[in-house]
Amino acid sequence: MPITLIKDKKYMRPVFVCDDCREEIDDASSANYLWQNGKDNITEIKYLHKKCTVAYEKKSRERVYDMMELNHFLVYLLNNSGMTEEKIRMARESAKYLSQL
Ligand SMILES: [Zn+2]
Repeated sequence: MPITLIKDKKYMRPVFVCDDCREEIDDASSANYLWQNGKDNITEIKYLHKKCTVAYEKKSRERVYDMMELNHFLVYLLNNSGMTEEKIRMARESAKYLSQL
């Protein structure tokens, strides 16, 4: 359940959930994303607090993960989604408006 929606008062909001402790990741700079390089072009991603990463890797001894910080994942995801600085600014403004409804 790495990316999901949680209900906060009356609204649903998208969040990352740590694959180890199942708590919300509320600071991308305090988390990592891990994946396995394999034969397939598509791979599963794990999202973990940095404090949970070592424990998770020990539990998954048979697997070898590559890892980067979650804040980098978000930048790459925006870039790969065609989000320019202007589109990000416009999306931020419209999301702010929708949050006020
Ligand atoms: Zn965690």
